[in-house]
Amino acid sequence: MAEVQLRGVSKSFGGLEVIKGIDLTVASGEFCVFVGPSGCGKSTLLRMIAGLEEVTDGEIRIGGRDVTDAEPSARGIAMVFQNYALYPHLTVAQNIGFGLSLARMPKAEIEAKVRAAADTLQLTHLLDRKPKALSGGQRQRVAIGRAIVRDPKVFLFDEPLSNLDASLRAEMRLEIADLHGRLDATMIYVTHDQVEAMTMADQIVVLNGGRIEQAGTPMELYRRPDTPFVAGFLGSPR
Ligand code: ADP
Ligand code: MG
Repeated sequence: MAEVQLRGVSKSFGGLEVIKGIDLTVASGEFCVFVGPSGCGKSTLLRMIAGLEEVTDGEIRIGGRDVTDAEPSARGIAMVFQNYALYPHLTVAQNIGFGLSLARMPKAEIEAKVRAAADTLQLTHLLDRKPKALSGGQRQRVAIGRAIVRDPKVFLFDEPLSNLDASLRAEMRLEIADLHGRLDATMIYVTHDQVEAMTMADQIVVLNGGRIEQAGTPMELYRRPDTPFVAGFLGSPR
């Protein structure tokens, strides 16, 4: 089943078109990776799916429902950003539960959800700490925890690992892949890192200049790149 569907999605900033008629289907449970050079439109496309940026043209459906004009909170999605700003004065538990507090969920329910998320992310022993007493990887886990407590059907990640060093990045890559396996969620993951794309994706969407250059499985793109750009970007032997 299609979880996320884009039809003719375009975006202009002040008359300049930066997303140019994107058609895309992301299946339920899929791990979809948007990849492409800096400035090609990855973040803008993700922010439109999240509802943080209005579309100029086209239609976005999530779970079969037209959400093109829906508020971010009404889309059943949660987004994890590159700059996972945590609240420095709040504990890990309070940071993870913050959105639920805003939504006025009962305290006992918030605590149960925070505990379950912390358990999933191996943060249970850190719940009373403040962010400054955490490592980079632990902070990134807290940011993912904030998304998990909301039980989204769709997770959106915008270069979540780009601030981490190479070895931690490799470790977190495995953790996110593992999480995807356990949560039964659809994930759309933006990166400019070819290795992340090739190792994590069910479907890779190669973006270039606001258009889809090619979309397919890692093997399809590696073996049969449609364009020299795709071949060059993914390091195919062509
Ligand atoms: P990526 O995430 O692939 O690096 P972005 O989606 O951030 O690319 O940007 C795509 C294009 O849109 C770039 O040319 C960028 O300068 C432009 N852009 C993004 N956001 C805005 C904005 N709020 N106002 C004007 N131009 C923007
Ligand atoms: Mg970006």
